[in-house]
Amino acid sequence: MDFEPSAKSAEYLKRVKTFIQDEITPVEADFWAGIRAANNGSDWKRWSVPPMLETLKAKAKAAGLWNLFLPDEKLGAGLSTLDYAPIAEETGRSLLAPTVFNCNAPDSGNMEVLWKYGSDEQKAQWLTPLLNGEIRSAFCMTEPDVASSDATNMRATAVVENDQIILSGKKWWSSGIGDPHTKILIVMAHTPDFSKGPHQQHSMVLVPIDTPGVTITRMLPVFGAYDEPHGHGEVHFKNVRLPLSNFIAGAGRGFEIAQGRLGPGRIHHAMRCIGAAEAALDLMVHRGMKRVAFGKPVMMLDGNRERLAEARMAIDQARLLTLYAAWKIDKVGAKAAMTEISAIKVVAPNVLQRVTDMAIQIHGGAGVSDDTPLPAFFIQGRSIRIADGPDEVHKAVIAKIELEKRGYKKR
Ligand SMILES: Cc1cc2nc3c(=O)[nH]c(=O)nc-3n(C[C@H](O)[C@H](O)[C@H](O)COP(=O)(O)OP(=O)(O)OC[C@H]3O[C@@H](n4cnc5c(N)ncnc54)[C@H](O)[C@@H]3O)c2cc1C
Repeated sequence: MDFEPSAKSAEYLKRVKTFIQDEITPVEADFWAGIRAANNGSDWKRWSVPPMLETLKAKAKAAGLWNLFLPDEKLGAGLSTLDYAPIAEETGRSLLAPTVFNCNAPDSGNMEVLWKYGSDEQKAQWLTPLLNGEIRSAFCMTEPDVASSDATNMRATAVVENDQIILSGKKWWSSGIGDPHTKILIVMAHTPDFSKGPHQQHSMVLVPIDTPGVTITRMLPVFGAYDEPHGHGEVHFKNVRLPLSNFIAGAGRGFEIAQGRLGPGRIHHAMRCIGAAEAALDLMVHRGMKRVAFGKPVMMLDGNRERLAEARMAIDQARLLTLYAAWKIDKVGAKAAMTEISAIKVVAPNVLQRVTDMAIQIHGGAGVSDDTPLPAFFIQGRSIRIADGPDEVHKAVIAKIELEKRGYKKR
C-alpha cells in the first residue's frame, strides 16, 4: 500500500486548492447569504440559482478543473479512486466547491451510471449536458410508504406494456429535484412480471422531469433547512408513459446498477466528510484561541485540548480507512471492497458529526447560527448517516461478510 498521491493527483490538488482559495473562499459566505435572502424556504417553484455560480463553473471549466471524479481520460480527469481522494477531501472543505467543479452529489453518481450503463443515445441526450454542467439530475429510490433501507420493499412499478414503460408510485428525499436546472430523474422501480430472483426484478428508468404524470408535491426540510436551490423533494408518478429505450441497460438491472452507483458515491461522500471535518477543526481552533474566558483562550480551558486531540485522531483514522478503501477499489474492484466501503460509509459521517459538534460547542451561541458553515456541516454528517443506507445496514453488511468468512451463513 502506498498512499503517496501520484504526480497527476498532486498537481490537480495544488490547482484545486489555489482555485478554492482565490475564487471560491472570498465569495462563499456572500453566496449562501444571497441564497437565503433570495429563495423562499419551502416555495421551491420560486428558487433560483445565483448567476455567480455559473461564472465560477465557467472559470473552473476553463481551468481544466472539471468532472474530476470521472475515471474516464476523455470525459473526466482520468484519476483513480485513490488519486481522486485528496481532491474530493479538499472540495469537501467548502459547501460550494463540489458544484463549482461539477463533482457534486447526486449528479456525479448519476453521470457515472450513464457513463457505465447508458446507451449511446442516452449518453448523447443526458450524459453530455450533465458533463457540461448545463443541466442537473436527481436519483429517486427511497419511498415514503415503505422502509426503504430494504430496497426489495419498493412499491413503485415500471410495467412494460407493448412498447412502453408505465411508471407509477411515490418517491421522496430525491436530492436536487428542486433545482431549476434539474431536467432528468433516474428512478428505480419494480418491474413485476419479470420472473427472476429478488434482485433482478427492479429497473432504472430515465424520466424527463416534465413528462406528463410527474408531480413534485413538496420539498422536505432537514432540521428546518431546505438546502435551496437544490432541495430534497417528494415526487409522485401517475401512469407516466415512457419509451422502452428509457430503461437503463434494460429491465431488471436496477440492483446491479444501484450497487455500481453507490460504491464510488459512498467513497466520494466519505472524502468530502473528511474535508468538512478538517474545516470544522480549523474553525474550532481559531475561534478557541481568539476568544478568552476565565483568563484563558477557550481552547486552553479544561477538557478542550483533549477534545482537539480526539478530533485529530478521529479524522486521521477516518482518512486512513477511506484511503485504504479507495486503494482496495482500485486494486480489486468495488465488490471485493464491500467491507471497506461500508466501513467508511459509517465512519466518515460519524466523525464529521462528532467533530462538528465539538466545534459548535467551542463557538458557543455562534456555533448554531448561520455565521459559520458549522450547522451545514453538522446536517451533512447527520444526514449521510441515513442517506445511501443507514449506519445499521452497513454494519449488517460488514457483520455478514465476517460471519461468512468463518463459514457461518445467514440464519
Ligand atoms: C438528506 C437526505 C438526502 C437523501 N437523498 C436521497 C436521494 O437523493 N435519493 C434517494 O433515493 N434517497 C435519498 N435519501 C433517502 C435515504 O437513502 C433513506 O432515508 C435511507 O435509505 C433509509 O430509508 P428510510 O428512510 O425508508 O428508513 P427505514 O428503512 O424506514 O429505516 C429506519 C431506520 O431503521 C433502522 N434500520 C434499518 N435497517 C436496519 C438493520 N438492518 N439493522 C438495524 N436497524 C436497521 C435504521 O436506524 C434506519 O435509520 C436521502 C435522505 C436524506 C436524509
